[in-house]
Amino acid sequence: MRAMAFAQPGGLDVLQMMELPKPTLEDDEVLVQVKACALNHLDLWVRQGLPTKIPMPHIGGCEITGIVAELGGKVREFQPGQRVLISPGQSCMHCDWCNQGLDSCCDQFHIIGYQTQGGFAEYAKARAVDILPISEAWSFAEWSAVPLTFVTAWNMLHERAGVKPNDEVVVFGASSGVGTAAIQIAKQAGARVFAVAGSEEKLRRAESLGADVLLNYNTQEIAKEVRSRTGGRGADIVVEHVGSAVWQQAMRCLARNGRLVTCGATTGSKVELDLRFFYTQQHCVLGAYMGSRHGLLQCLRLVEKRVFQPVVDSVFPLDKLREAQERMEKREMFGKIVVTP
Ligand SMILES: [Zn+2]
Repeated sequence: MRAMAFAQPGGLDVLQMMELPKPTLEDDEVLVQVKACALNHLDLWVRQGLPTKIPMPHIGGCEITGIVAELGGKVREFQPGQRVLISPGQSCMHCDWCNQGLDSCCDQFHIIGYQTQGGFAEYAKARAVDILPISEAWSFAEWSAVPLTFVTAWNMLHERAGVKPNDEVVVFGASSGVGTAAIQIAKQAGARVFAVAGSEEKLRRAESLGADVLLNYNTQEIAKEVRSRTGGRGADIVVEHVGSAVWQQAMRCLARNGRLVTCGATTGSKVELDLRFFYTQQHCVLGAYMGSRHGLLQCLRLVEKRVFQPVVDSVFPLDKLREAQERMEKREMFGKIVVTP
């Protein structure tokens, strides 16, 4: 099969179209003919080289939709040709963590396309339990913009930060996949949403997803604006994945008892914390890594009912994966960049 893969870590040029063997199936696995695969910043980190051991040549791509191509010997619940997506986070499903719904704490937790081979190829495989049917309510490209992005934003807002009606929620990086999902999830939970992005065009699009207050980090001091628009109080929740470039601003947005929840470090992973301010204000800093199967199923249900909408920035053919990743590196996108084989 054709795959855009890399044989050693590096820059964009390590990505090459390769002819690699089609995945072979265990009894409990399903082969999916890939129709679309969305990009994540994780693909860039993995391509650039992380300490984790990964199969080589490596095929990235964590958010995969397609049709069932072949079934392992013991799989009864799917038909060839059926429309499906592959759950990006995969765990053992029976340990204490999994039983508590904390799937990403499982010892065996892994992300397809990161620790295993992913979807920048004609075919990808997964255990039948990680295959989820999708309807024709959205296209393959639109469905591929959902799973990792929405489950992460759901985990951040509902499972970690405990969003409630009338909370003031600030979303940094509002134009990213997680940002566009977080705006919609916070809004649906009844919160007042502040979107932070770097251009007026991105902010207009954030508004169309439900953002109430639009803040441009290139022209405004974000923490000051958040305070002045909350009667001096500050935000209950700050959703953040930009990292060191916005950390101080993000912390200064918080009201007393406010929670900052982060799932990324795009601009750098080392930050400072003033402990005196942190404890006297009763602040809380929360980490979020992907999310639970329960959260994923909730998000898929709400996408199916069109309560949430997938946000696709652009669609590239598979052989243009380098150009697609370059667009992500330059942060030109609003929503998800997708490739189709
Ligand atoms: Zn487990």
